[in-house]
Amino acid sequence: MIRLTLKSGREASVLRRHPWVFSGAVGARRGDGGDGIAEVADSSGGVLAHGAYSPESQILARLWTFDGRLPGPDLFRERFQLARRLRQQVVAAATTGYRAVNSEGDRCPGVVADVYGETSVIDLTTEGTEAWGAGIEGAFREVFSPKRIVVRRTASRHDSGRRSSPSHPDPFPGSSSQARSAKEEGEGADRVPFDENGLHFLADVSAGQKTGFFLDQRENRARLRALAGGRSVLNLFSYSGAFSVAALSGGARRAVDVDSSEAALVLAREHRGRNGFAADEADFTRADVFEDLRRRAAAGEAWDVVVCDPPALAKKRGDVDRAARAYKDVNRLAMSLVSPGGWLLSCSCSGLVSAELFQKIVFSASLEARASFAIVARQGAGPDHPVSLDGPEGEYLKGLWLRKT
Ligand code: SAH
Repeated sequence: MIRLTLKSGREASVLRRHPWVFSGAVGARRGDGGDGIAEVADSSGGVLAHGAYSPESQILARLWTFDGRLPGPDLFRERFQLARRLRQQVVAAATTGYRAVNSEGDRCPGVVADVYGETSVIDLTTEGTEAWGAGIEGAFREVFSPKRIVVRRTASRHDSGRRSSPSHPDPFPGSSSQARSAKEEGEGADRVPFDENGLHFLADVSAGQKTGFFLDQRENRARLRALAGGRSVLNLFSYSGAFSVAALSGGARRAVDVDSSEAALVLAREHRGRNGFAADEADFTRADVFEDLRRRAAAGEAWDVVVCDPPALAKKRGDVDRAARAYKDVNRLAMSLVSPGGWLLSCSCSGLVSAELFQKIVFSASLEARASFAIVARQGAGPDHPVSLDGPEGEYLKGLWLRKT
């Protein structure tokens, strides 16, 4: 365990249970952080919290407890049980793909777990939780009883990107031998089936993005399904085309997927087939969305519904201005394609772009597009993506349902 002593006057956020300790707030580090556990103390030495230690990250510790309890298998089991009970209350029976553990939102900072039918994907998103991998995997297995677990280690993506040692010594030996062998057996089979509101999908759990599917858009897909009847739908940044499948199942006349990734479009074609819809080549466009939209605008196309769900365009603070311009451009172009009375679902999954800023960006796009829109609904991630009041940064997905007036 390593002790992180805060600089004098920097304890306020920890006293408010904020789950992150930034490196700039830490005055001294003492001890060995090899077991991934950080003890956080105020400047006079009083212990305030314990959490996962990420020596290379700007967020040096992600806090799990404020009552002296040490992170370990018992705590993991307890937190996962609470997480599971929430999902039992909010996930419908016709949905077998859902977020089972949502990091800070389930008081498990640095751990994301998604269930896809019989397979679960655990994503250890920080160096600290990577060090606890075996204990986390064992506790998850006990609580959720998945047939197969795939563990991803994406600390380098979420943290600063600089990593020291590739693996830490395992502080919880013995809890994972069974999990390990199951994991290895399962390797190779990388597309796993699951249902979302009765629709059939595949999650690409090894090579796919996120943990294989964008579960956070379930509520928006349900809304699209409810209003798509008889309409044409242009699905921008489609990934595996889940919005289009939802629209077609709601009776859409046509749905077109646009994405730059061929692998995503292969999956998109397969998703249509699995749900009983034809996969017409003309309905899949492999292109850069910005260029594709310019072409469509020049051709005078009009669509009843446009879905615009770009990847996170701002990944660090310095990106925000450039990202704002990109969001504005893509929204302006998308708006110009919406037919009168039609819809634009405009999304941003950049945590660094606040809901307020995003709405302003979309408004300026509408001025440039010379079109007026009304906000009919705001819809972010569903209830399987809880956000802790202690750490509101966890609320990243914004979806504006806009109707052209
Ligand atoms: N709406 C999707 C998730 C979108 S993720 C869903 O609900 O499943 C973002 C997608 O945008 C990825 O599939 C990525 O391949 C694609 N992408 C990123 N930049 C792009 C660009 N400039 N043009 C086209 N597609 C892009």
